[in-house]
Amino acid sequence: KMKVEQQARDEQAQKPLPKGVVLGPDGKPCRTCTSSASWKAMMKGATTQPTKVATTPPAGATSSLQPPPDCPPDVEQLGRSSWTLLHAMTAAYPERPSLTQQMETKQFLGLFSKMYPCWVCADDFRTWMKDGNEPRVSNREDFGQWMCEAHNAVNVKLGKQSFDCKRWEERWRTGWKD
Ligand code: FAD
Repeated sequence: KMKVEQQARDEQAQKPLPKGVVLGPDGKPCRTCTSSASWKAMMKGATTQPTKVATTPPAGATSSLQPPPDCPPDVEQLGRSSWTLLHAMTAAYPERPSLTQQMETKQFLGLFSKMYPCWVCADDFRTWMKDGNEPRVSNREDFGQWMCEAHNAVNVKLGKQSFDCKRWEERWRTGWKD
């Protein structure tokens, strides 16, 4: 029996994974590192089909590839929520932070870049910070600009449009002027 189970596992492991499916450190597909489209393609090829959940698409959903809102996050949902948190933190950052606040902010970013649940994203973020992009946390404006640059580095990597960093505060703190 053990032999048959092992054989089944080996067969499953040998199946080529669809493009875009990223493995986690445990060697299993990593949901928070993979887009829902690639995840769906992988599940289609799996022997056991996932249970279908009857849900209405989330408000504003434009594509049928949008996962149901109560599923574990894919790399994109995780990213959107995380950028919201990070930019909101810069918006709430003091104009004159104490040295302790500055130190704690750097500590937070250091830990965030280690614990971010998409490990490939986390690795690249840490590398970017090390390559001459240390966090600038001396005041709100600097921190907001730095975060915008960090986000743009990912936008560029993913082939997305860069955001105009002069407008970070309008987007994340004051609202649009016009
Ligand atoms: P998002 O990029 O999530 O942006 C949300 C909103 O922020 C936009 O609608 C826009 O209004 C605003 N915005 C956009 N750019 C900026 C900016 N520069 N400054 C201020 N506001 C801005 N995904 C991967 O596939 N691979 C990765 O390696 C990867 N690395 C990541 C690293 C980190 C630290 C984080 C937080 C996320 C990462 N992501 C990665 C996720 C990726 O950045 C996006 O969040 C995801 O692709 C969803 O993109 P989106 O187009 O919905 O908008």
